[in-house]
Amino acid sequence: MIQVQAASGGYDVIVRWGALDDLGAVARGCDLRGAAYVISDTVVAPLHGERALVSLRSAGFEAALHAFPAGEVNKSLDTVRAAYDWLVDQRAERASVIVALGGGVVGDLAGFVAATYLRGLPFIQCPTSLLAMVDASIGGKVGVDHARGKNLIGAFYPPRAVVSDPSFLTSLPGRALRDGVAEAIKHALIMDPPMLDLLEAGAERLLTVEPQFTTEVVARNAALKAGIVSRDERESELRMILNYGHTTAHALEAVTGYNRLMHGEADSIGMMVAAEIGRRLGVTPPAVGERQARVFARYDLPTRIAGLDPDAVYAAMALDKKVAARKLRWILLEDLGKPVIRADVPEDLVREVLAAHLR
Ligand code: NAD
Repeated sequence: MIQVQAASGGYDVIVRWGALDDLGAVARGCDLRGAAYVISDTVVAPLHGERALVSLRSAGFEAALHAFPAGEVNKSLDTVRAAYDWLVDQRAERASVIVALGGGVVGDLAGFVAATYLRGLPFIQCPTSLLAMVDASIGGKVGVDHARGKNLIGAFYPPRAVVSDPSFLTSLPGRALRDGVAEAIKHALIMDPPMLDLLEAGAERLLTVEPQFTTEVVARNAALKAGIVSRDERESELRMILNYGHTTAHALEAVTGYNRLMHGEADSIGMMVAAEIGRRLGVTPPAVGERQARVFARYDLPTRIAGLDPDAVYAAMALDKKVAARKLRWILLEDLGKPVIRADVPEDLVREVLAAHLR
C-alpha cells in the first residue's frame, strides 16, 4: 500500500490490476456514504464508466455519471460550469463523493469541481491514463486552464484515495501510453536510476501492457511521486525537481498551441535541452544525456522538434511559473538521480541550445 502523508490530508494510493472493481469498497473504507458522482470524459466513459458505476452501486452508493468532451481544450471553466449544473440537477449534497474517472484532464477538472462545489466534496481519483497513474492523480493539484495559460486556475485539494487500475491501459492509444512513459523516465532520471534499466530493458513489456510488469512500473512511480509530495506538498523546493524538462516543455506546448505535442513528448525534448545545458555548463556528465536519449528512443519519444521559432519558445519560457525574480530556474542533473536547481544559466546558452533542438 502506498500512502501520501501531506499536511492537508493523508490518503492511500491503491495500485492493482483490476482495482476498479474495488472502487466502491475503497470509497466505503474512506467512510464515504450516500451518492457518488462520477465525472469522466466522452472517450473513457463508454469504455469504463459502467464498471465504475457497478462497483459503486454494489457497495451501496447511488451512482451517476457525467461525461464531458475529451481533450485539453475542454479543461476549462465552461466545462466546470456544466459539471456544476449537473450536480445541481442531481441535488448533490455535502455527503456525496465525486469520482474522477479518466486521464489527467479529468482528474484535474473533476478535482477542481470537488474542491469548489458546496465548498468542497470528498473525491476519489481513478486515473485511466499512464500519465495520470504515475503523476497527475497523486499530489492534490487540481485545476483548469485559462485561455491565456495552462493550469492558471486551481487549488491544492487532496483526494480521499487514488484507485489505480493498470488494466485501463490496455485501451489507451499507444501514443498516450508512450507519453506517460516519459514521466516515468523523468522519475527514474531524477530519483531512481535503477528504474532506468528496468524501463530500458522492459520497453516491449510496457508497450504491450503486460500485467505484472505494467503494475510494477505504475506502483513504483506512484510511490516515488507519493514520497515527494508527502515531503513537499506545496512545491517549495523538493517538489520542484519534478519539473525536470518542464521549463522547455511548457514553452513548447504553449508555442504549438497545445495540440501538436503531448505533454510527455514536450517533456522528453525539454529533458534533452536540460541535459545539453547541463553538459555545456560542466554540470551534467555527457553520458547522462546520451543515456536518456537512448531510453527515449526505446519508446519513440522525440528529442527535438523542427519548425519552431527559438525566440518565441524563449519568450514563452520567460512566462513560465518557475521564473523567480526574473531568472529562469533550471532543474539540471549532476548525475543520474542527482538533480540541482540552477538560476544562473546564461540566456545566450539557453538560446543556443534551444536553437539546436528546434531543427
Ligand atoms: P488526457 O486526460 O487528455 O488523456 C489523454 C487521452 O486519452 C484523452 O483523449 C482521454 O480521453 C484518453 N484516455 C484516457 N484514459 C484512457 C483509457 N484508459 N483508454 C482510452 N483512452 C483513454 O491527458 P493525460 O495525458 O492523461 O493528462 C494530461 C493532463 O494532466 C494535462 O491537463 C496536465 O496539465 C495534467 N497534469 C496534472 C498534474 C497534476 O499534478 N495535477 C500532473 C501532470 C499532468
